[in-house]
Amino acid sequence: MAVAFLSAQRSKDPSSQVGACIVNQENKIVGIGYNGMPNGCDDDLLPWSRTADDRLNTKYPYVCHAELNAIMNKNSADVKGCTMYVALFPCNECAKLIIQAGIKEVVYLSDKYHTTPEMTASRRLLSMAGIQFRQFKPKKTKIVIDFNSINNPGMPDSSAI
Ligand SMILES: [Zn+2]
Repeated sequence: MAVAFLSAQRSKDPSSQVGACIVNQENKIVGIGYNGMPNGCDDDLLPWSRTADDRLNTKYPYVCHAELNAIMNKNSADVKGCTMYVALFPCNECAKLIIQAGIKEVVYLSDKYHTTPEMTASRRLLSMAGIQFRQFKPKKTKIVIDFNSINNPGMPDSSAI
């Protein structure tokens, strides 16, 4: 899950940075993705707005969700039987991809859009397809990455020196 969150930091979406990480049955990473515009589509030219008078001026028709990117970025022949770790409960469109890709389990952290039609449809699809989903309960809520720690082992915040 931490790898999913680290990947999410690469997203240019100003309002929602979502990451996903797929692991195989040996818990080896086979795919990572975050939400972004399709390859070759300039994410400085396409809109990132959540609302606009014209839906074409919102991000929704263009953006690729983290789940899609993690599946498409896979470095194995397929992701059958794999588990997807994802920051947010997948929407119905991603549920379709997860099912068709053969992923067998989804582990999510937040379910903040639980009551929306997209999430309701998603739960319906995942349940019918026999895909397990469960909420991730982190042992600690924060992990700090300190690049200086390699030079100063044992000192959690070497910038304070
Ligand atoms: Zn989605």
